[in-house]
Amino acid sequence: MRMGSSWRWQISRAMRLALRWCRLCRLQRGGNKVRLSGRLSELWKYSKLLLKSLYYNSLSNSDTMLDCVFEPVYWIVDNVTRWFGLVFVCLVILLTTSVVVVIYLFVLPTILSTYPVHWVVWHLCYGHWLLVMVVFHYYKATTTAPGHPPKDKTQIPSVSICKKCINPKPPRTHHCSICNMCVLKMDHHCPWLNNCVGHFNQRYFFSFCLYMTLGCLYCSFSSKEMFLEAYSVIETYYQTPTPDYTLRETTAQKSVIYLWVLTSSVSVALGGLTLWHTILICRGETSVERHINRKETRRLREKGKVFRNPYHHGNMNNWKILLGVEKRSHWLTRVLLPSSHLPHGDGVMWDCTFTRRDPMAI
Ligand SMILES: [Zn+2]
Ligand SMILES: [Zn+2]
Repeated sequence: MRMGSSWRWQISRAMRLALRWCRLCRLQRGGNKVRLSGRLSELWKYSKLLLKSLYYNSLSNSDTMLDCVFEPVYWIVDNVTRWFGLVFVCLVILLTTSVVVVIYLFVLPTILSTYPVHWVVWHLCYGHWLLVMVVFHYYKATTTAPGHPPKDKTQIPSVSICKKCINPKPPRTHHCSICNMCVLKMDHHCPWLNNCVGHFNQRYFFSFCLYMTLGCLYCSFSSKEMFLEAYSVIETYYQTPTPDYTLRETTAQKSVIYLWVLTSSVSVALGGLTLWHTILICRGETSVERHINRKETRRLREKGKVFRNPYHHGNMNNWKILLGVEKRSHWLTRVLLPSSHLPHGDGVMWDCTFTRRDPMAI
């Protein structure tokens, strides 16, 4: 009996031990699993932090993300504009020269031979005045630097730091990614000038747009009768028998059609741009500031406040400041005649008081 109970006891003890061993093994495996998943989750978190540390900061938002995504597109556009700048300038010179040549060869002789004397004098004076103004302002707009923030002065009024130049940015200054530098009172980068439009050449740019539009309108209206005549003649080219025109006559007809189509198209396109800049100047804004001020107006309106442009001195005063008109005679000597006077102010310090209603009273 004792022997039998001892045997049974031995077996039950062995079973108990085996069960405990199994339970222990299971617990250990579970523990390992927990430790492994904890380790993996730590690694995942660490990798995420490492990745974010490469690009993330407290200012990151959807705009920054979009900028990063479109960065290659901006790069291509900037470089293409930079490389093609010279091509565009050559194109402007070539097209303008071709228009002038056609006018001298075919339109002016017709005017001289058919118009009364007073109209001939008017055409000669007005046409040549426009030509001089276009050439002068285009030359000045392309060759005058728009103005950049001084690098040696540390005590300049700055509103922010340029992320690209790592330099203080005075008010109204913006970075041009094509020129790769900050530009004072930056308006835009003009590929047709291969130059930025800023504080020191904005007047030349606007005057060029205005006089070029007037010049194109003049050419378009002056050659309208000749164009209609040439257009009706060109249709007869395809009749049989072919009309017997000399080479000079066919060249004149085709040239006048080219002249009218080109000058009319440029009048519309450049006229629209000139009108847009006229509105901006009346409002005392640059093209860049137009976008900023629109955003700011919306933001303040939501808060129940009204945005006021600190650089708007009234319509007429804005024009006087831009054109450098300080006395009445300047309307003739500085606006209607070529003038290379410097603009008002240095482009770094800006008078933005609302109390000065007439900063350049004449
Ligand atoms: Zn910059
Ligand atoms: Zn530029």
